[in-house]
Amino acid sequence: MSSRSRLELRCSNHGGDEVWVSAHCSFFSESGSSAPCLILQAHDVSARRRAEAGLHQLAFHDALTGLPNRRRFGDLLAQAVQAAQADTTLGFAVMFLDFDRFKLINDSLGHTAAGDEFLLGASRRLRDTVRPVDVVARLGGDEFAVLLYRVEHESGVITLAERLLQSLRQPLVVAGSALTASASIGITTSLIGYESPADVLRDADIAMYRAKAAGKDRYALFDAVLHSEVTQRVRLEGELRAAIGNGQLSLVYQPIYELATARLMGFEALARWTHPDLGAIGPDAFIPIAEETGLIVPLTDFVLHRACQDLKTWQQSDPAFAALTMNVNISGKDVGHTGLVARVTHALVAARLEPQCLHIELTENILMEQLKAAMPLLEDLRTLGVGLSVDDFGSGYSSLAHLSSLPVDTLKIDRSFIHGMRAGSNEAAVVHAVVHLGHSLRKHVVAEGIETASQFAQLRDMGCRAGQGFHMSRPLTAVAVEGLLDRTLDDVARTALKTSFGLLTALH
Ligand code: C2E
Ligand code: CA
Ligand code: CA
Repeated sequence: MSSRSRLELRCSNHGGDEVWVSAHCSFFSESGSSAPCLILQAHDVSARRRAEAGLHQLAFHDALTGLPNRRRFGDLLAQAVQAAQADTTLGFAVMFLDFDRFKLINDSLGHTAAGDEFLLGASRRLRDTVRPVDVVARLGGDEFAVLLYRVEHESGVITLAERLLQSLRQPLVVAGSALTASASIGITTSLIGYESPADVLRDADIAMYRAKAAGKDRYALFDAVLHSEVTQRVRLEGELRAAIGNGQLSLVYQPIYELATARLMGFEALARWTHPDLGAIGPDAFIPIAEETGLIVPLTDFVLHRACQDLKTWQQSDPAFAALTMNVNISGKDVGHTGLVARVTHALVAARLEPQCLHIELTENILMEQLKAAMPLLEDLRTLGVGLSVDDFGSGYSSLAHLSSLPVDTLKIDRSFIHGMRAGSNEAAVVHAVVHLGHSLRKHVVAEGIETASQFAQLRDMGCRAGQGFHMSRPLTAVAVEGLLDRTLDDVARTALKTSFGLLTALH
């Protein structure tokens, strides 16, 4: 008869170092003998133990900061969710933290080692600001999460969020120079009644985006309003997919005029979604959803194809319209999509449209945030022959130094500047400076959001080439554009008639 057991023991050797010993014990009694025998075998398994600990560290911790990683955070969060479900007094809160403009910090420092140094310093700050029981994890990139235990009131979490923001605002010394940064924090708590850790992170992430949208360097709490917005959004996500194919998505076209002559130059295509229950949904609501779900690719393709085809039809309707142009907005997500140049080419070929009649608009923020990715794309689009505009110019933090090296031909001044334009106002001075800057860089300058005759006249007198806005025309359906084109032809004919009449009377 025999029995065996095995155990691992943590021991220390003479020098006090930790040694792991695996002990195998075998008991047996030989037949005929009453005394049981014991065999004890001991092995030093320290090396294996160290390797295992190393693997565990690698699997559950972030290599750069040593903080728990996303997987470890997920495990701890799952335990917290379970505990709170079983006992509501075990409340928790999660903060999702993302540095504002980390990419810019990274790019401006010029090498990844400095970016790492920044993250390391910032993660120490986070660790030092929270309580020892709380968990700070690095989820990836510049995203961090904090899990706070024993949370009774939101107020305590908010105080901590403010302390975190305050500590992150203090300059950090990176690569020998002091760097000021800030972060946006999204917060959610177990009061929502979570059942899965993934939902907690999702809501904290949504709240973080709310903080970014509200101006960065702040926190936002996931609350009932955000909750219903999310429900709505999840619904729209599902429906947008179908809408692209089933005719609910359409385009309207806002005319763009040459200011000096009031001549129609072309249009900007703007996407519209007519939802069967909710009615008209604006692009500001559905473009972000399309971007997040990857639906932006079919959406942009739809816009490119439809806009090119409509323009071709109008160009062919009369020789007077042969040079009309079409502006199409491209999302930041399209910039990261390798096939964009091929997709633009495809739309041009399908519509048999000359490349120079198509203008691609990219916002200033996209250009600056994704400058490295955008440069080859801009070069390729330029080689293809399409026009390139910087949209919403002035609204971002673009460095003017970059501007001269960008292969773009047009600057489109953001409508917020046009809105504030009065003779002698700051905005008027800025617009004036942008028009001159644009000209000195040999770029066209276009104004958007022209709402009054006075804004129109000021821009024209400053030498701004073209513009669009409610003063001239709201965005029009394709059918309404055809009406506009008919009226334009009538005007042209009347002017021609008047001129020839004037000529005839002069001759007599
Ligand atoms: P945006 O490119 O700056 O487009 C101009 C926006 O200003 C349009 O709003 C237009 O209707 C509005 N607008 C035009 N004239 C005036 C004016 O005189 N005053 C004021 N206050 N507003 C004026 P819309 O159509 O709601 O588009 C909003 C944004 O959605 C666009 O801003 C653009 O960034 C985005 N967007 C629209 N269509 C598309 C699209 O097909 N693809 C992508 N990626 N983005 C799109
Ligand atoms: Ca635009
Ligand atoms: Ca714009």
